[in-house]
Amino acid sequence: MPLLRKILIANRGEIAVRIMRTCRAMGIETVAVYSDFDANALHVRLADQAVPIGGAAARDSYLNIDALLAAARRCGADAIHPGYGFLAENAGFAAACENADIVFIGPSSKVIQAMGSKAGARRIAQDAGVPVVPALPENDSPASGFPWLIKASAGGGGRGMRIVRSAHEFQESLSAARGEAERAFGDGTLLIEQYIEGARHVEVQIFGDHHGNVMHLFERDCSIQRRHQKIIEESPSPAVTPEIRNRMTEAALALGRAIGYTNAGTVEFLLVPTGEFYFIEVNTRIQVEHPVTEMITGFDLIRLQIEIAQGKLLPSSRPQQNGHAIEVRLYAEDPDHDFLPSTGTLHVWHPPIGIEGLRVDSGVEAGTEIGVYYDPLLAKVIAHAPDRNTAIAKLVYALKNFAAQGVINNRQFLIDVLEHDEFRAGRAHTGFCLPPQTYKSNDAALATVMRTYIERTEHGQRKVLPSIPLRYRNNPYRSPAMKLEINGREYDASPDDQTIEIVQTSPGQAVALIDGIRRHFQIHQHGDEYYVRSSFAQRKVVRMPRYPRRTGAGQHETANSPMPGQILRILVAAGQHVKPGDQLVVLEAMKMEQTIKTTIDGVVKAILVKLGDIVAPGQMLVEIESTENANEHPSSSAASN
Ligand code: ADP
Ligand code: ADP
Ligand code: MG
Repeated sequence: MPLLRKILIANRGEIAVRIMRTCRAMGIETVAVYSDFDANALHVRLADQAVPIGGAAARDSYLNIDALLAAARRCGADAIHPGYGFLAENAGFAAACENADIVFIGPSSKVIQAMGSKAGARRIAQDAGVPVVPALPENDSPASGFPWLIKASAGGGGRGMRIVRSAHEFQESLSAARGEAERAFGDGTLLIEQYIEGARHVEVQIFGDHHGNVMHLFERDCSIQRRHQKIIEESPSPAVTPEIRNRMTEAALALGRAIGYTNAGTVEFLLVPTGEFYFIEVNTRIQVEHPVTEMITGFDLIRLQIEIAQGKLLPSSRPQQNGHAIEVRLYAEDPDHDFLPSTGTLHVWHPPIGIEGLRVDSGVEAGTEIGVYYDPLLAKVIAHAPDRNTAIAKLVYALKNFAAQGVINNRQFLIDVLEHDEFRAGRAHTGFCLPPQTYKSNDAALATVMRTYIERTEHGQRKVLPSIPLRYRNNPYRSPAMKLEINGREYDASPDDQTIEIVQTSPGQAVALIDGIRRHFQIHQHGDEYYVRSSFAQRKVVRMPRYPRRTGAGQHETANSPMPGQILRILVAAGQHVKPGDQLVVLEAMKMEQTIKTTIDGVVKAILVKLGDIVAPGQMLVEIESTENANEHPSSSAASN
């Protein structure tokens, strides 16, 4: 196989940037592709060449096989790296590359095809002597043995899985899951597995070359998940003894050899406390969490992928485990609202710098617009240290010093999980849920600081009364109308907190003594919004309008989208009469179908979306005119389930 000289990266975001980093180090030119939405994205600027491939929606761009192959031909790329997600596990794409004489950096289309079906992969694993999760025979309905887990055989990314805990909900879950699987993956085949509670997700990284060799690079523990999707990953697993490691890596290798595996792959298992483990699936691509393996082994897994694609032998030196690495995924999502993806502009973005053994992989920068079209991953933060406790401490420290504002994100949530006793003890399994946090917060203090800051900077701008004393307790220019909102609470001109002394303000900064401790605040203003951060807190402070807006008369209800998503079905027509609980619209969002219902009696006045539309959170979907008594106030937010 030839040396590769130019690689097209059929992806976006952090993984596109990550792949380019290795290509550059190998002297290989890179081609980026981009959707209309991503024209100014980091991955486009970092590439040697870039080709537009279509509209914002993934199916028009990053999933458009013809456009990708045309881009590769136009640029003379001799290989395509698919990254993860999008077309990475699409056997048709791999085959199309093979037919076009373009090297697909991954396993053969045949292997992808075989492993793409969870049901098929299960049978192959069984034949190779690998223990699998107990499952129901096809077309069987369980009468006992609950809970069961219904999965799409062609599924991925934790999408559309349903736990069934009793016989009477089984049929309904089954047909819902089948419909969802057909729409999401074009294949309604389902797999019904025993739902194993209290298990850990432990996976083995394997690599195969084109000369019949297969190696492993140890395990990763990805037990911390939300909605069956990983958010924290580490290596080694705190639950894996050398004896379990031997058995598990041997099982992964046996499966890899049985299918003639080439390139990078991950064999996923569920590990139970007795030390037994059960195969769940093979991912035929590079994983999001590959950096933890890189940090403990020193191998560059993207380089390995490229070398294997060039026909090289696997490295002769056996990988060693060195220390402990943990990765967290910083997502644009709201932990306080069921982890709904959030959108907006990333106004403030300062990853921590100068921390040895810390790696940040990201594809965003200050000013990046986070839209509804793609995965809301902002960055991966990975810490490597000699031992697990130090890795945790370093990661917590890094996250506390990671300024990410403008888009609601899970930074504080990640810190809370890392600091949780169960996680620290290495006991958290896939069912781990963080109890609701009661934050020690002093937003009232922040409001006092910010009120002074805003008044002073405004006076400074107007050049009126420029000489404000540096140290003072009572602000003589207090405008009684200034209201601030922090974390959903309003703070108005309450009497000064005597324990707060504003030491100094200058544009973008404030220093205050709070309870005798000197605190430094950094402030980024965007209109009426102030993004404030200090050593340990990051808050949005909103300056409220002087007079509150009058609320409407309550004659209408608009059903608004509770989250970003796509319109799957519209169940009402204009003029139709509806009553509370009637279904209006089905939205695909949060990897599930969400039904938006009305909460009032009324008549549908307008349908404001059409099938297939991508909608933003808060966007109006359906307008309903109330037929209830006009002085009753219908709830303005529609219910969803
Ligand atoms: P995906 O293709 O979406 O990654 P997986 O089959 O790998 O689907 O499952 C994703 C996650 O769901 C697993 O990491 C695990 O937490 C959970 N899970 C999957 N199968 C089972 C099972 N049989 N019992 C309990 N949890 C499971
Ligand atoms: P600590 O967590 O040690 O209190 P901080 O620097 O985060 O340190 O907080 C300083 C004080 O200001 C605390 O009383 C804190 O609750 C309050 N505070 C509230 N919001 C913020 C913010 N965005 N930035 C800084 N401090 C804030
Ligand atoms: Mg999986």
